[in-house]
Amino acid sequence: MTTRPASFTEAMADPIRRALFVADLETDLTGGCGLCDTEAIEMCAACGQCRCDTHEDCIRLTP
Ligand SMILES: [Zn+2]
Ligand SMILES: [Zn+2]
Repeated sequence: MTTRPASFTEAMADPIRRALFVADLETDLTGGCGLCDTEAIEMCAACGQCRCDTHEDCIRLTP
């Protein structure tokens, strides 16, 4: 089950959602992708894309 916060304010009012949001933001800021929880070090070694993206024109080294 996926629950999406109705608003940013609502998300910030929930400690668990806030913690998740901060973790995702931290991942984004360090060069990863918070949406698919890909750390910068886990990004595709061939093209630098995350797990959100298709990698049709590169040899994907990570599963
Ligand atoms: Zn790739
Ligand atoms: Zn992603």
